[in-house]
Amino acid sequence: MTNAPPPPTSAAQSARTILTRLHEVMPSRTNAQSKLNQVVHIIGECLNSEVCSIYLLRDGALELFATRGLKQEAVHVTRLGLGEGLVGTIADHIETLNLDEAAAHPDFSYRPETGEELFHSFAGVPIIQHERAVGVLCVQHSESRRYDEIEIEALQTVAMVLSELIANADLVDSEAQSHATSTDQSSMRLSGQKLVDGMGAGVAVFHQPRITIEHTVAEDIEAERHRVYAAFDKMREQIDRMASQTDFGAAGEHDEVLETYKMFAYDEGWSRRINEAIDSGLTAEAAIERVQQRTRMRMRQIDDPLLRDRMHDLEDLSNRLIRIVSGQMGTAARMGLRQDSILIARNLGPAELLEYDRRRLKGVVLEEGSPTAHVIIVARAMDIPVLGRVKKVRTSIRDGDLMLLDANNGTLDIRPPQIAQDAFHAKLQASQKRRASLATLRDMPAITKDGVPIDLMINAGLREDVTAMDLTGAAGIGLFRTEFQFLVSATLPQRERQQRLYRDVLDAAGDRPVIFRTVDIGGDKPLPYMNMRDEALSEENPAMGWRALRLSLDREGLLKVQARALLEGAAGRTLNVMFPMVSEPWEYEEARNLFISQRAWLKERGKKLPNAVRYGAMLEVPGLIETLDLMLPHLDFLSIGTNDLTQFLFAADRAHPRLAERYDWLSPIVMRYINRVVKICEGSRVTLGVCGEMGGRPLEAMALLGLGIKRLSITPAGVGPVKAMIRSLDLGALQAAMPSILQSPTSNPRGQYQSWAERHDVDLGITD
Ligand code: PEP
Ligand code: MG
Repeated sequence: MTNAPPPPTSAAQSARTILTRLHEVMPSRTNAQSKLNQVVHIIGECLNSEVCSIYLLRDGALELFATRGLKQEAVHVTRLGLGEGLVGTIADHIETLNLDEAAAHPDFSYRPETGEELFHSFAGVPIIQHERAVGVLCVQHSESRRYDEIEIEALQTVAMVLSELIANADLVDSEAQSHATSTDQSSMRLSGQKLVDGMGAGVAVFHQPRITIEHTVAEDIEAERHRVYAAFDKMREQIDRMASQTDFGAAGEHDEVLETYKMFAYDEGWSRRINEAIDSGLTAEAAIERVQQRTRMRMRQIDDPLLRDRMHDLEDLSNRLIRIVSGQMGTAARMGLRQDSILIARNLGPAELLEYDRRRLKGVVLEEGSPTAHVIIVARAMDIPVLGRVKKVRTSIRDGDLMLLDANNGTLDIRPPQIAQDAFHAKLQASQKRRASLATLRDMPAITKDGVPIDLMINAGLREDVTAMDLTGAAGIGLFRTEFQFLVSATLPQRERQQRLYRDVLDAAGDRPVIFRTVDIGGDKPLPYMNMRDEALSEENPAMGWRALRLSLDREGLLKVQARALLEGAAGRTLNVMFPMVSEPWEYEEARNLFISQRAWLKERGKKLPNAVRYGAMLEVPGLIETLDLMLPHLDFLSIGTNDLTQFLFAADRAHPRLAERYDWLSPIVMRYINRVVKICEGSRVTLGVCGEMGGRPLEAMALLGLGIKRLSITPAGVGPVKAMIRSLDLGALQAAMPSILQSPTSNPRGQYQSWAERHDVDLGITD
């Protein structure tokens, strides 16, 4: 430019001047077109640019909506497809172009009606809504030159404000807007790991909903600055708290993530850039988003998966900061599900999942997740299919997208075409048929083909779960996870409430036994209201930390209250009580003695008591096997918790997504270990069972029976398939084959069991 005034000294100044003037246009009562005409004039004047144009996405193409400098006849005539010409490329790649010679760019597409041959240089930025380009803002000059960084930044800031204008001020008609957000809505398929079997269809709902930024232009810059300072303080406090709390592990998040969170939360550069964006006239929310957009654009150009992962973390933190600043704190559960939905999250805690309305929740898709994490056990109990380790969910899916989740197949179809929807529903029907046919087994006994009865029980934890006993025809509840009541409560459940639940469960069970496990909290089941922080200190390995029976014995008051609730709740009946995660015999003894003394205490006060109390322990800590023989005389039953047991046998965190598929339950490590346990218990009066997730899978359950296990307590959805397996199994033949399988395992132990099952016509159903 020959007669151009000196450029503004900072991007902030330049943007601020434009924003101040736009601010006057935005609320005016003029129509959309005239607002846009004013906008291009303001920007053109302020940037001293010969051409300034706005293209908006309409009917899948970018249409010239307003221009200063190009021929007016081209307005609403010039249209470019996504990816077509410079404008289409900017929108398609969501990138900025800054060119001294527009025509030299390989994507340049000449449109004679615009008269743009007069102009050489070109700069364009995308107008973004919900991470999608809905338009392009560009400037052009006759002189061949590159634009300053200051000018580009000013354009990007202005584009943010334009996106508010488009969204809020009826700038495009609603039809156009729906096209704007629905272009690029091609269907796609993502794959992941099946964590809970099943299929479900519904609309996408983000556990942490996307934030809507309502105002982008600041009224009072100092006030915005203070809002951001305060939000930063609060966010840092939250991150520090997570670092010192066990419940960071609850979300399945890892130290690595936490470290990155901390690094970003305290990063001076990040807060400085947000401050600069506020200087340019943006509100706190818009400034955070603006910085985030810029980072996203930069990261798109870097092809480094590690950096991209970190980008996710920054994105999380940035959203957290916007939520704090805007006060939009709730999860989707708090707002309620309005229709059949598929929930999307990076990860969830069990309590968070329990907050959702299970009638409308048709599936869960996680970026992380592992099959034995407690949230997955809860999902299984709720009969909600879960697909885990799905990459790119948060970037490929938008709120409200229709999705078909087929966890059995490990796939998630997003925005599927009609033909895929038809195929899905046909498959769903077939699987419902299979379920219905399994339901006919409900009243048939769980007895092997050669006549050996198996105790097939269910795992439960919520009041509603007990109905599953009738629906499945299970022989009782082999594991009632009492901590679920604690997890769904906002405060520590009082004794009366606990007692009521236990009594109701026993009422529903009638003659069928229920084994109540005392609270197994801590680890990946923290109680936010219990302030366990101080006592747990900072746990590096919460699964091996202060949890389950360890915590209950140290917090004697907690266990005493539960003991009384159980003893009184089971008045006039048999109470079966089981202690989780026993590591040494004395822990079991101490817990049992506490129950005995509480029983005496209640008796002294004339309370009604159970007719009998039977005590059991969970075998989850591998070392316990060494003293098992000493414990047997004091035990009535023993239950192998294969979820924890295998995590400790393999030293592999059960909630770690990377380790989720690394080790097999059918590995000789697990099978030989359980075989030793069976041998130790043989000849004693102790009833031995398995209550981990392993027993709920037909092939694994078959292998356990082969070892001599006669009691399985499993997830309700597993009862039908496992019963079908039992009824088709010649147990004698399997037991005859077991010594050689255990003695000479191959490198593919699963294959060994599978081929035995195939050769002997064992019904393994559709789940394996
Ligand atoms: C187990 O560890 O196998 C078990 C049944 O207990 P939980 O899954 O509740 O830890
Ligand atoms: Mg356990």
